[in-house]
Amino acid sequence: MLPSNAKSYWKQYRSVPIVYRIGAAFILGSVVGLVVGEPVTVLEPLGDIFVRLLSMIVIPIVVFTLLMGIRRISPAQLGRIGGEVIALYAVMSAIAVFIGLAVANLVNPGTGLTLAEDVEFDPADTPDFVEVIVGIVPENPIGAMAEGDVLATIFFVIVFGLALLMLEETTDDEAVRSGVESIFNIVEAGTEALFKLVWGIMEYGVIGVFALMAAVFGEAGIDAIVPFALLIATLLAAILLHIGIVYLGGLIIALTRQSPVAFLAGSKDAIVTALSIRSSSGTLPVTMANAEENLRIDESVYGFSLPLGATINMDGTAMYQGVVAVFAANLVGVQLTIVEQVTVVLIAVLASIGAGGVPGTGLIMLTLVLTQLGLPLEVVGFVAGVDPILDRLRTMTNVTGDLAVTTVVAHWNDAIDFGGGSWVDPTRGLEMGDTATGDD
Ligand code: ASP
Repeated sequence: MLPSNAKSYWKQYRSVPIVYRIGAAFILGSVVGLVVGEPVTVLEPLGDIFVRLLSMIVIPIVVFTLLMGIRRISPAQLGRIGGEVIALYAVMSAIAVFIGLAVANLVNPGTGLTLAEDVEFDPADTPDFVEVIVGIVPENPIGAMAEGDVLATIFFVIVFGLALLMLEETTDDEAVRSGVESIFNIVEAGTEALFKLVWGIMEYGVIGVFALMAAVFGEAGIDAIVPFALLIATLLAAILLHIGIVYLGGLIIALTRQSPVAFLAGSKDAIVTALSIRSSSGTLPVTMANAEENLRIDESVYGFSLPLGATINMDGTAMYQGVVAVFAANLVGVQLTIVEQVTVVLIAVLASIGAGGVPGTGLIMLTLVLTQLGLPLEVVGFVAGVDPILDRLRTMTNVTGDLAVTTVVAHWNDAIDFGGGSWVDPTRGLEMGDTATGDD
């Protein structure tokens, strides 16, 4: 038995919304990392466990929520929602690169720095666009799920879900019809259970995030960060402008006429998780939980748009290409022409579609942009040291963009309840007692 003091501390601790506890762990971990330095990296495995716990439920949650969503809509609706989501994702990414380029041209990060001679970089494979498109059709759906291939999994689940619906409509066999119902019922129960798991994993996240941040700053150290302060600040300024003007001003206020504070409050667990683990795909379970429980979006929209967004929609990553292109040009003392800057927009948007939402993707994509502009690839090695910091900012933007677009498309399709969740109570957070699905 715990002494009653300990019990009441525990109760008090648990009464603070999880996102604030994780936020505190984020800051505390960063400070401890900077103060203690290298030795604190021994804690890293505790952080890896958090990332693995989230990754563990990505594929199940994608499969289950997508099937639940398909149950509720017609193929025609699915097509329309898909078109709207993809079009908005592409437009937002292009705007993001423009903003990144504009801010970088103003601030001019990289002037005064020189490329160290000894940085080496071994360009990794960059994704081939045609290969990505062909790869959407899995040769083996179980293999795709086992490998965590989200696009191929989405494809299989959609066609399988539509087939189940058709079967239910057309069959005369009562046993088959009730079999289809049972599949959907199992999926519904599974989804509820997975959302409970998200909650439990976030509880552990307090330890995981502390360890992750301590390890990052323990390894990088303040001396490694200072020369890149202007680059970090430029990206941060561009991101804040993009989130403030485009997401909050354009998407949330202008298109849905809702409060931006309510939107951010509803998305905060996903935002903090993205900052902590720097992977949009890994954050997906939390992003989905926020869409379901706080933003009150229907699975028929988020079940499709969020996994898709985690894979193809990366505004922060695309914007980063623009910022680093200007940074790299300044390092070697050249000026990018307008045509070159437009090329950056095109490549960055296309490359962000082909690349997956995992840590460090943006750094690999950079090779494409730099090669196209004839800038030295060594820049990739040069910025790699601070990438764990830049990547966090990119990922946070990527995830916020997925949720903002999903909110708008849900609004257009009457698939969101603005009368509940964070829209009426911005203080609510992810809690164990929340109903995940269905009965609201
Ligand atoms: N880590 C980012 C994401 O998962 C991708 C990137 O490296 O920019 O969204």
